[in-house]
Amino acid sequence: MKKYTFLLLPLFILGVTACQPKAPQQVNDANEKLVFATLFVQQAAEFKALNYQAYNIGKFRLDQILNENKSTKKLAVVVDIDETVLDNSPFEAKSILEKSSYPAYWKEWCNLAKAESISGAQEFLSYAAEKGVETFYISNRKIELYDATLANLISNGFPHADSTHLLLRTSTSDKEPRRDLVRENYDIVLLFGDNLGDFSNLFDNKGSAERSALVEEAKAEFGSKFIVLPNPMYGAWDAAMFDGIETNNKDSVYKARLKSF
Ligand SMILES: [Mg+2]
Repeated sequence: MKKYTFLLLPLFILGVTACQPKAPQQVNDANEKLVFATLFVQQAAEFKALNYQAYNIGKFRLDQILNENKSTKKLAVVVDIDETVLDNSPFEAKSILEKSSYPAYWKEWCNLAKAESISGAQEFLSYAAEKGVETFYISNRKIELYDATLANLISNGFPHADSTHLLLRTSTSDKEPRRDLVRENYDIVLLFGDNLGDFSNLFDNKGSAERSALVEEAKAEFGSKFIVLPNPMYGAWDAAMFDGIETNNKDSVYKARLKSF
């Protein structure tokens, strides 16, 4: 029997090791946090429902606004593009699988012009167009992506997808000068976006606490003039958590921001 001990001992050790609960894997890959966010966008019916909810509120408000309209100017709706009218979650999925990050693959993705409409966006904007309300697309995509962006809007059947109504980033990411340009000839009655900067530049370049306080101040505008779309994958809210912090360890900052009990 003794002569078999040398064979059984490694098997015993292997068995004990296999039965031990595995320690949770350390999340070092910054893209790991994107997995659940991207799955929420691509798999959660709740995400789709939230987008319909946003555009249904938009339609409800537009009907009210049209009923009460006394403006001498033409009416306009302003929308952001990414994660407001176009779904770029396949770009996020690519980043996760390739362990890459923006700007890698962004240009390639945009040039495919294959992003699909966010649920409810195309229907709502077409409804607005039928009512004589024009849509302006104000996006911080770079100007080099102009033709592909226009093609992508057209392929999804978005109204007013033309060079007058598509305003991409030129010298500044601040959208206020572009909104002011629209205001010269139009009354902007509704704004749609997934970033607070899509509504006012008051929200730009602020830390989390200040953004939160500004939302409290402007709370009556949400669902009334400002319609917010959900985007758990990226946004100014992420950068806002790092206000004034230089770090190579983003995970530790995220953990420090958690509110526990
Ligand atoms: Mg956006």
